[in-house]
Amino acid sequence: MPQDELSASTPARRGAPEIYPWHAEVWAQMTRRLDRLPHALLLYGQPGLGKLAFALRLARRLLCAQADAAHEACGACQSCRLFAAGNHPDFSLVEPQEDSVVIKIEQVQALRGFLALRPHTAARKVVVLAPAEAMNAHAANSLLKQLEEPPLGSTMMLVTSMPARLPLTVRSRCTRFLFRAPPRPEALGWLEGRAQDAVSLLDAAGGAPLRAIELERNGFPAQRAKLLGDVEALSAGRESPVACAARWKSMGAENCLNWLHGLIADLAKAALVPAAALANPEAGARLQPLLKGLHSKALLRFLDLVAESRRMLGTPLDEQLLLEDLLIRWCRLTKKLH
Ligand SMILES: [Zn+2]
Repeated sequence: MPQDELSASTPARRGAPEIYPWHAEVWAQMTRRLDRLPHALLLYGQPGLGKLAFALRLARRLLCAQADAAHEACGACQSCRLFAAGNHPDFSLVEPQEDSVVIKIEQVQALRGFLALRPHTAARKVVVLAPAEAMNAHAANSLLKQLEEPPLGSTMMLVTSMPARLPLTVRSRCTRFLFRAPPRPEALGWLEGRAQDAVSLLDAAGGAPLRAIELERNGFPAQRAKLLGDVEALSAGRESPVACAARWKSMGAENCLNWLHGLIADLAKAALVPAAALANPEAGARLQPLLKGLHSKALLRFLDLVAESRRMLGTPLDEQLLLEDLLIRWCRLTKKLH
């Protein structure tokens, strides 16, 4: 499962949660009336948007004894110091333990005792559970019981990139806050100086800036060169779509399709407005000569197919077949050109 962009060693875990500009609106919305904040929140949205960092920032703010007018935790009071040290007695972060990928029922049951006690130093108790979809069925059931009888003065935040994997009964007990990818220019501005070749990375990341950083760290630039080589070979009729689909599946179908979507969108734009600057000039230089004669309408139709394939990724449909189908269509489209 995609980890939501924070590892145990990041400063956020040690008490200084990162503040991301694209959170401003949700932050303002939530902090406007903190006293009216619902007791259970579901923070959801695609991976790579910093939802967990947001939850930790809000937790620190809720526990702080003297937050400033800008609704940020002070960073200096006893509560903030305890939070920074990672041992605030009124805060609990529930996540899969050690090598496990599952949040177990024992972990959720332990919350009952934690929430039953009065707060030590803060005005309330705060729980962050992430990634919430890692709860097994027993854990989710135990959580449901606690959500049905919320202890007074507590806030529970469930963080997930896959809300559909949570039981509807759990979801319906929470007030939902959707996190969206920032507008492209904002995301690219933020990535400037943080990542090389931000445009391709952001495409592959489906627009999520932190996912783009993670992709770079995990060697996506090398992968991208292979992907571009594949599209080039497919367009020239030198490669089998079936073999290519198998490689793409092993590289991670989602990243590949995200990247392909960005590439085709770019090529379609160039076909529509010949003077437009390409976001991927290298890809353009290699592919445009091969695709000469391909109408922008055909590219836009194929772009729809890529988008449709991306949507189908979350379904039980076989990824290999999905990729094969798409790449076969690309070969058919480009076959007439050579
Ligand atoms: Zn404070």
